[in-house]
Amino acid sequence: MERTLSIIKPDGVSRGLIGDVIKKIEGRGLKIVAMKMLHLTPAEARGFYAVHRERPFFEGLTTFMSSGPAVVMVLGGDNAIARWRELMGATDYRKAAEGTIRREFATDIEKNVVHGSDAPETAAFEIGYFFNRLEIFV
Ligand code: GDP
Repeated sequence: MERTLSIIKPDGVSRGLIGDVIKKIEGRGLKIVAMKMLHLTPAEARGFYAVHRERPFFEGLTTFMSSGPAVVMVLGGDNAIARWRELMGATDYRKAAEGTIRREFATDIEKNVVHGSDAPETAAFEIGYFFNRLEIFV
């Protein structure tokens, strides 16, 4: 079973989309094996997105990610990384496929409701950023 990190970003939480996102996750057969709600500090958001620190959107992104509570989850299943990214849709919601979360709910390239790890190495880093072993229920 593969694991991936999923986040319902602050826009998704403030707009009341937690239930919609979880329904799609479970409906797609991905298993939620860990979950918590937290409000990242700007420093924690910068640490999480450190790979993007040279990008022009880094400051805006980390300010947004620390603007309110988010829901972080570990999802498990066969091919969970790719399956969760497919369900999220493209970063730019205007390019996201029909039926994806971003196509349905995102309002902005930055405020795009959800996050998902993009590779096994990033998934391991991102899961470890938020959860210890005792908090993950396989
Ligand atoms: P993801 O893996 O689809 O989330 O996309 P990336 O890893 O490339 O980018 C991380 C996050 O940064 C995205 O989900 C967006 O919230 C934000 N982002 C990406 N590209 C842009 C951009 O061109 N402009 C702005 N403002 N935000 C962006």
